[in-house]
Amino acid sequence: MHTPPWLTSLWHWFAGEDPVLRRHVGFCVGSAQLYVLTLAVMWHAVWLGYMPTEVARLITWLMVCTWTLVFALVRSGWSRRFRDPVLTMPHAMAAIFNTVVAYALLGPLRADIFVLLAQSIALTMFRVRPRQSLLLGLWAIGLMGAAQLWLGLWATPVVDPVVLVSHAVVGGVTLWALALVAMWVAELREKIAAQAQRLQDTLGQVQALATTDMLTGLLNRRQIEQVMADEMARAARAGTPLSVAVLDLDHFKRINDLYGHRMGDEVLRRFAGLIKAELRALDHSARWGGEEFLVLMPHVEGDQALVALERIRQKLSELPMSEHESLRVTLSAGLAVWQVGESLEQVIERADLALYEAKHAGRNRVALAAPSPSVPGQAGAASPVWAQRPWPQGGAA
Ligand code: GH3
Ligand code: MG
Ligand code: MG
Repeated sequence: MHTPPWLTSLWHWFAGEDPVLRRHVGFCVGSAQLYVLTLAVMWHAVWLGYMPTEVARLITWLMVCTWTLVFALVRSGWSRRFRDPVLTMPHAMAAIFNTVVAYALLGPLRADIFVLLAQSIALTMFRVRPRQSLLLGLWAIGLMGAAQLWLGLWATPVVDPVVLVSHAVVGGVTLWALALVAMWVAELREKIAAQAQRLQDTLGQVQALATTDMLTGLLNRRQIEQVMADEMARAARAGTPLSVAVLDLDHFKRINDLYGHRMGDEVLRRFAGLIKAELRALDHSARWGGEEFLVLMPHVEGDQALVALERIRQKLSELPMSEHESLRVTLSAGLAVWQVGESLEQVIERADLALYEAKHAGRNRVALAAPSPSVPGQAGAASPVWAQRPWPQGGAA
């Protein structure tokens, strides 16, 4: 249904700009319907001559004050400090109290009030906890009992005990049954909410499993391919550069052989930590496979990317690996700047080629791939560009 813009503006003015607050205010406004109904029944009784106007006026004020107070607490945001910001429990208790006062003073039409009392409980069952539902039922029955006692003993004129007993039985049974139903609904609601939370948690775990590499915590190959496709599309749209690098640890097999597979895993984890620490938040890094990593640097030209990779290379070569003082790890990297029109496979192939060149030239270095001659608008270069001369020792010590 289309809501006219003026009505939306009016509602936002009335209920506030914050959507959560608007939901709370909406609940308050919904509860006002019950007040209107109660007042209608009561003023009908006044009109029929069953109830003095002054008494009706008193109850009307009681109801208006209760609702206005709750509305003010909710609308001002004060009630947000509570678990239930629409104050269902105190509001329902006050509403039941007012309704019972109306019952006591209504005259022969007082039986009508049962419907309204029942509604007070029914409307809360979607917000309160199971035990609170029972408490509301007991509160309503207790107040009704007190009112009936007063009507039977002290009211003028005293009400016929047969009528009161009938009200006590019918009202008591109805209210108690409703309180039980409300409790079951509240229990069901809590169960469903807990189940939804468990599902949400599991989904989060499955998502993490599907997108990250368990050993290093970096993105896995499948996920980085997805991210890379997105980044390529974004770079193409915005006309911004995108640097892609493949990093491979040097002589990693030797590390495993000399220090054990477990230490090898630790090296992979530490290297992943180093990459994350050195890259910007908008860069992406992934474990491409084994001891190979992929790094994506959006908005970065080749020369800047070389500086970043060079920094990582330098830091890795200086990174102590726990108790093994002698263990120093180095990396070789191939860097390619993505060209518009180039596929994911093509740009990675160029980065791989540069990595191969870096390995061949003695490892522990970063090489920039030549632009692809097959992609329009790019001049081909014959050989990779070296970032820096190799680190003196080279490879695993
Ligand atoms: P290069 O400098 O040419 O890259 O030599 P390399 O030894 O690093 O490369 P190679 O491809 O010969 O060996 C890679 C090794 O990485 C072999 C494999 O056992 C090891 N490796 C792959 N994945 C893991 C892993 O998850 N944990 C550990 N500890 N080792 C791994
Ligand atoms: Mg290697
Ligand atoms: Mg390798």
